[in-house]
Amino acid sequence: MIPFLDLKGINTQHRAELIEACTRVIDSGWYIQGNECKAFDKEFAEYCGAKHAIGVANGLDALILILRAYKEMGVMNDGDEVIVPSNTYIASILAISQNNLVPVLVEPDIQTYLIDSKKIEEKITSKTKAILPVHLYGQICEMDSINALAKKYNLKVIEDSAQSHGAYFGDKRSGNLGDASGFSFYPGKNLGALGDGGAVTTNDDELASVIRALGNYGSHKKYENLYKGVNSRLDEMQAAMLRIKLRYLDEEIIKRREIANYYIENIKNNHIVLPTIGNKDSHVWHLFVIRTSKRDALQAYLSNNGIQTLIHYPIAPHQQNAYKEWNGLNYPISEQIHEKALSLPISGIQTLNDTQIIVDMVNKF
Ligand SMILES: *Cc1c(COP(=O)(O)O)cnc(C)c1O
Repeated sequence: MIPFLDLKGINTQHRAELIEACTRVIDSGWYIQGNECKAFDKEFAEYCGAKHAIGVANGLDALILILRAYKEMGVMNDGDEVIVPSNTYIASILAISQNNLVPVLVEPDIQTYLIDSKKIEEKITSKTKAILPVHLYGQICEMDSINALAKKYNLKVIEDSAQSHGAYFGDKRSGNLGDASGFSFYPGKNLGALGDGGAVTTNDDELASVIRALGNYGSHKKYENLYKGVNSRLDEMQAAMLRIKLRYLDEEIIKRREIANYYIENIKNNHIVLPTIGNKDSHVWHLFVIRTSKRDALQAYLSNNGIQTLIHYPIAPHQQNAYKEWNGLNYPISEQIHEKALSLPISGIQTLNDTQIIVDMVNKF
């Protein structure tokens, strides 16, 4: 069986170093927001080219806390609107709803699966306060046009970088392409912890300071509470392990790119549409997503031949039970993607031999 993602294999590559990191935490006697968290925040900010990184409990919290901080700062109020792609993973949208803000869905470009920047302006109203572009599957959105629109209408730009750690847009990386950025270190992400984790990056000193407090009961100083905060901190143990894995992230990206290029050059099947790349260097291939109207048959065929694939994502957000109020609306491009998308296996440890087997099977379908 060729697995979709061999997480155990990915982490056992670094087994000795991870154990050493855990041992360091155990022996430090300090388990919440200690030296590992401090060091990770610094190293991750440097990696992204951002002034601040703030470790939080997970990627959803990273996005929730950015919006919450803007509310505390008076930039946004209940009922304000945030523009978000209609085909994103639901977490980007939940972060908006949870802050009593209104998600305004904009359809993606069918070629790149990224929010269609040409369709954003028509959705901007007097209530719009932010655009939340999602660098879906590991490819950066058209940030030049998005930032230009934000400037014109005085909007914040909040990147969802949960799938795009390390991706470049020009000479800047994901996490340094807007006003603030939310990252997830869910184990399956390109930079994955061995449990939950997340971070916010920003160049805005005030925003960083408010988020730091909000994630720690609303407090900078023990027992003094500035805000009605929450407990959302990156775990010291996860920070220690993420510091190890961060050192290998660029290598992971290079290997994923090699596999993606191999797929693109060698998959030849008229039923299948391969991913389109805007700018090769900007794609870190968190997912390799093909599109076919015979999706379910292809998935079953590959499974019968020992190849595991997944669907990102089977149900569009506007068709979810959680968003009943949208169930009657039509987002035809999203619907098409949710109906036809299939993710092939890809990771830093996938062998060329396995990649060739997958290509052969896909071509024979
Ligand atoms: C994974 C993911 C999130 C949420 O991250 P968690 O750490 O699982 O909370 C948010 N947005 C996108 C696009 C994601 O892929």
